[in-house]
Amino acid sequence: VWAAAAWLLADTNVPDDLRLPHVDPAGLVDPATLARAERYERFRRWDFVASQLVLFGVLAVYARHGARFVRESAAGRIGTGMLLGMLGLGFVWLAELPFRLAAIWWERRYDMTDAGYLEALFANWAQLGAEFLSVSLALALVMALAGRFRRRWWLAAAPAFVAIGALFAFVYPYLTTGAKPLRDPQLAAAVKSYEQREGVEGIPVRVEKVSDTTKAPNAYAVGFGPSRSVYLWDTLLDGRFSDDEVKVVIAHELGHHSRNHIPKGLAWYALLAFPGAWLIAIATRRRGGMAEPTAVPLGLLVVVALQFAAMPLENAVSRRMEAEADWVALEVSRDPSAAEGLFAGFTKHALAEPSPPRWERVLLGSHPAIVDRVAMARAWAARAGSR
Ligand SMILES: [Zn+2]
Repeated sequence: VWAAAAWLLADTNVPDDLRLPHVDPAGLVDPATLARAERYERFRRWDFVASQLVLFGVLAVYARHGARFVRESAAGRIGTGMLLGMLGLGFVWLAELPFRLAAIWWERRYDMTDAGYLEALFANWAQLGAEFLSVSLALALVMALAGRFRRRWWLAAAPAFVAIGALFAFVYPYLTTGAKPLRDPQLAAAVKSYEQREGVEGIPVRVEKVSDTTKAPNAYAVGFGPSRSVYLWDTLLDGRFSDDEVKVVIAHELGHHSRNHIPKGLAWYALLAFPGAWLIAIATRRRGGMAEPTAVPLGLLVVVALQFAAMPLENAVSRRMEAEADWVALEVSRDPSAAEGLFAGFTKHALAEPSPPRWERVLLGSHPAIVDRVAMARAWAARAGSR
């Protein structure tokens, strides 16, 4: 059942016989920009690797010794577990702080942000708060279920987490406040026409102001059913990208909705939640299982390790969906040169490396590499020319 579901979910409407031509990164941007992007990304990559090593180190020490803090707590079984969870997160936050500061330093050096250190560090304080809250609520849920069902808690927890994930994915667009409707008449007209051609009418496309903290251009599609929405960052609309290039972005984001990528993402989450929860249950048994607060520090380590182990699969799924959204964008915008200009613009304006090393693409690549996205635009043009 698992394999059949995965096979069905992995299906896309990118033609199976599509052959991607080789794309030379040197042909996309000038040599100085290319070298600058490579230097910029190299530091960020090793900063990430180092922060992951420290993360695992801190969590391993905490898994070994964290249970000592239990004695000092009088918060009851679940309360103590939640406190241990918070404490673990706090250690992780502190341990990762130098790497986050280094990343901000680097971004400022390359003029990717104007924000000060404190500003950049706490720009997403709401997200940090939400992270702490969701981890403690998740712990409360798991510990309550483990208290009730003992060893079989994972059978109840996995569907509960999928339901919570679905609820969150549904309400997320309503939680994003302060975004403004897309006013540019030419772009608004493109939204209407693409929605009609992709069969997804009435999806609001809004503009989110992020230019205070970053210069990176971005856009995303969120929600499902009646909450489907598309957000464009204002950094995409500041004149660095042409209207035709922004239209490709709009077509791409609407493509995520027309191909049901958010519900499909939730289905993938369900496929991973069951074996994941089972592995957590197995791994924490020798600490008395997840019903015991003493198992919480080890539980945190196991969750982070599983998330890390699942990254190649998750990113492979994500890259397939992104490639499909690119394909949809090419089919409705019919403008491969604008698509190519957009992708090259990611290197020019966001210093994205066009052709990162293989291990990084496999482990961390949520999108196809820029050379592959350009290759698809060229492959589309070649097919359109021969049709
Ligand atoms: Zn996308």
